[in-house]
Amino acid sequence: MFLTISTTGTPERPATDLGYLLHKHPDKAQTFSTAHGTAHVFYPEATAERCTAALLLEVDPVALVRRGKGKGKGRGGAPDAALAQYVNDRPYAASSLLSVAMTTVFKSALNGACRALPERAGEALPLRIEVPALPARGGAELVHRLFAPLGWTHVEAVAVPLDERFPEWGDSRYVRLVLEGELRLADALRQLYVLLPVLDDAKHYWVAPDEVDKLLRAGEGWLARHPEQRLITSRYLSRRGGLTRQAMERLELVRLAESDDLEVESVDNAVDETTDTEEKPVPLAERRRDAILEALRAAGASRVLDLGCGQGQLLQALLKDVRFTEIVGVDVSMRALTVAARRLKLDRMGEQQAGRITLRQGALTYTDKRLKGYDAAVLSEVIEHLDLPRLPALEYAVFGSARPRTVLVTTPNVEYNVRWETLPAGHVRHGDHRFEWTREEFRDWAGQVAGRHGYAVEFVPVGPDDPEVGPPTQMAVFTMTTAPGTTKEEKAA
Ligand code: SAH
Repeated sequence: MFLTISTTGTPERPATDLGYLLHKHPDKAQTFSTAHGTAHVFYPEATAERCTAALLLEVDPVALVRRGKGKGKGRGGAPDAALAQYVNDRPYAASSLLSVAMTTVFKSALNGACRALPERAGEALPLRIEVPALPARGGAELVHRLFAPLGWTHVEAVAVPLDERFPEWGDSRYVRLVLEGELRLADALRQLYVLLPVLDDAKHYWVAPDEVDKLLRAGEGWLARHPEQRLITSRYLSRRGGLTRQAMERLELVRLAESDDLEVESVDNAVDETTDTEEKPVPLAERRRDAILEALRAAGASRVLDLGCGQGQLLQALLKDVRFTEIVGVDVSMRALTVAARRLKLDRMGEQQAGRITLRQGALTYTDKRLKGYDAAVLSEVIEHLDLPRLPALEYAVFGSARPRTVLVTTPNVEYNVRWETLPAGHVRHGDHRFEWTREEFRDWAGQVAGRHGYAVEFVPVGPDDPEVGPPTQMAVFTMTTAPGTTKEEKAA
């Protein structure tokens, strides 16, 4: 198994700085004992202009088998696996074992730490990485899909023929991989650490719950937004459904937390929308809260979930009305929850008041048993923050699993956008809105949701109801018609 990392430099910024960044001296060949064999690090070239570090892993197949057996499950069960233990490509192919070796040999570099040259560790370098024999299930095409979104300017994956003397035998499942681009060394190493085993897709026998932590750590800064995130996560975790789900959920938290900056205030909260009366204009956000409070009172709700509560404006209004005896705010954004806690003065609240309210971090696209059994749930300006393909997951979590008696959903009416003077044509109201719906689109969606989960739905305009384009905000009021425990899903549960 063989991997080289090259960089170029100038007399002022010599390429041999790579040695500092990797914490391996260019003049020395070094040997390390790793879990599966011996790793060698050496530099085939080391000048100010060009420097190449090579990592060679000699795998000890016997040690591999012993370790595999020691773990009990995994390899070794099926009879043909016994032979496969000895006759396999592990010693020759770059794979998960190389990843493991990287953590031993390039530990500090993976963490982006470099005491000698801390600045260079944080800078992008011209890098060239080559792996001559990379097992790649999914072939060159998948290699491109995995590396191209990560900032490499050149991704080359050429299938290695099974046997050069017999071209008619076709290609092996190996590719020669070359990556070129300007990246931070730590980022490049972390990508390889994750993607080499993902491409290999062989069974890892070390998959343990802390692999999710490792994956997230190594994926920091790139995995949460990678278009092939699901494939990467699932393969990395050896297709273990539970772990994959856990990792995907945490990646979603990361992604949402990253877009936190955009969440702070919606355009329509910032711009004071005037009403058609002469009086002081009422911001649309306030009108929305009033409409929600009214609908909650009409439904006779006292135990209420505010899902995607943001910075807690609605929670504050709910607290002021004693009929709401139990109020739970859920949001994925820790920052929003911190602001909400401050707004509500949670730390200075009397015991009785504090007993009425709970703030909780969570992703609404995952079911949560603690959300079951409430009178009502509010999703105020939340659904449009989800990618459309994630909407069914939220639908199931709220209407299928939590199943409050009443659900209020508000969302912008895109038809109304032409009435916003400050909004350029064709733009959504907020940078993080993934979609905005017409009245018909919203009715369509809400009608289907209601039908699927045993709810009736009515629509309430919020804000001035323009004769042509309708109101700025549309609200759906869902009321459960089927008693809990009688839907198909619940019977199955
Ligand atoms: N309900 C508030 C905030 C709306 S902004 C209001 O009406 O003003 C949307 C909020 O939904 C943000 O705080 C965002 O962090 C949260 N959010 C978006 N997607 C989420 C998800 N999948 N799970 C939980 N919260 C989410």
